[in-house]
Amino acid sequence: MFNIAIDGPAGAGKSTIARRVAKALSYIYVDTGAMYRAMALYLIRQGISPQDERAIQEACASARISIAYVDGEQQVLLNDENVTPYLRQEAVGNMASASSGNRKVREKLVELQQQLAARENVVMDGRDIGTQVLPEAQVKIYLTASAHTRARRRFLELEQKGLTADLKQIEEDINQRDYQDMHREISPLRQAEDAVLVDSSDMTIDEVVEAILSLCRERGV
Ligand code: C5P
Repeated sequence: MFNIAIDGPAGAGKSTIARRVAKALSYIYVDTGAMYRAMALYLIRQGISPQDERAIQEACASARISIAYVDGEQQVLLNDENVTPYLRQEAVGNMASASSGNRKVREKLVELQQQLAARENVVMDGRDIGTQVLPEAQVKIYLTASAHTRARRRFLELEQKGLTADLKQIEEDINQRDYQDMHREISPLRQAEDAVLVDSSDMTIDEVVEAILSLCRERGV
């Protein structure tokens, strides 16, 4: 199987880029953040606090998370309910960032991710794909952009959806989430030694996609 790993901080454009690369190669796109978000949604619904390690561990046993593909789009199922439409809310993202440091949560979701990548050619995006989930991936990208650029992109995305947003608040959330993701004890966000760094601050989506595809061609993907 060919595996392409794309890691990086929140709002770097990973999902847009990974989706496009997957389409160009006819690979499956796996959004691992959506799995952590589905787990977070479950915790929110159960009223569990991100600090309550024990309750989170118990929740791991009762939350069944799986992935389905409908018309090529990933759907995340939580106990058989398609929860994809609820996952992009800021509250869910913040809870995902807080609860993804839990060892049981990571074990559960990493196993699911590795099973998928063993069965299919995948482009998988997340925080620990190149370092932990798919250390043997043929191509590893660390995609980043300045915090300001990332906040602006998320702001425009929300605005387009007709949602009101506060740019300063988004930038603060992004900085806080990066800090949490980079400083947690288990699988912190970091660039794998053999990953190629792509800073998309001054690049268009097409340029980033092309840079990754050309690297894939070099590696025989
Ligand atoms: O990428 P996205 O913003 O959807 O991810 C939500 C949260 O899930 C991240 O802030 C991060 O804490 C967590 N996550 C993770 N490992 C991954 C993907 C996401 O810890 N592979």
